[in-house]
Amino acid sequence: VEAQSILSMNSVEVLYDNVMLAIKGVSVQVPKGKMIALLGSNGAGKSTTLKAISGLLKAERGRISRGEIKFNGTDITEVLAQKRVGMGICHVVEGRHVFEHLTPDENLTAAAPLGMSRSVLNVEKEKIYNYFPRLAERRNSQSGYLSGGEQQMLAIGRALVTQPSLLMLDEPSLGLAPFLVSEIFDILQKINQEEGVSVLLVEQNALAALEIVSEGYLIENGRVVMHGTAEELKSNSDIQEFYLGGG
Ligand code: ATP
Repeated sequence: VEAQSILSMNSVEVLYDNVMLAIKGVSVQVPKGKMIALLGSNGAGKSTTLKAISGLLKAERGRISRGEIKFNGTDITEVLAQKRVGMGICHVVEGRHVFEHLTPDENLTAAAPLGMSRSVLNVEKEKIYNYFPRLAERRNSQSGYLSGGEQQMLAIGRALVTQPSLLMLDEPSLGLAPFLVSEIFDILQKINQEEGVSVLLVEQNALAALEIVSEGYLIENGRVVMHGTAEELKSNSDIQEFYLGGG
């Protein structure tokens, strides 16, 4: 099974400031080419799980105190964050982190990996503008004036420029109108299908997430309390009551 996983996280514990145990033995598998969701409420440990995978924990005085993370079979538990980007792991953090004083086009250029040729960069940009026509229209305006949804699209575009094989997104739907959430999620699904990029999606909007992923993990208090196919999760009565607004 592990051979087909692009990402295999096994019994990972994360400590912040050497005292705060934020996740307590989380195991998550991302099969190659699939879209997987991490669901759960505020503070459950979803963002921490992504940071453990991308290596961004260090910047927040966090560390993996137990367990291991394998990417394409290679143990990356101790690998530096910058090196993980080069290996194909890209993490779109929560919030829309773009350079507001630059245009979307300049933002994409700035996100390109060192040494990427201009011609490859241009091909990547055109691909991104094809996926996000709204971004193409505003490619030469100042990014600070883009709407929240457009800035989220740009944040995703900046990730795509790095040509990731594993794209991780933290709450891309946060604060967006429902029509924009479905627009962005449809595009993510298209990118997943057309580019073969594996996706690990952190979402509080379980309803929208379960429409596009194949499997989901429910995290509560730093532990995985449920794992199943999107269909299984959608039909689970606890998930319906607490996360889908039913019950
Ligand atoms: P949210 O959607 O609100 O970010 P989450 O499920 O992503 O929630 P985490 O952000 O991973 O949850 O937080 C898990 C736990 O770790 C929480 O109790 C949180 O307070 C704690 N925590 C997160 N970041 C830090 C940090 N840098 N230092 C100390 N504790 C932290």
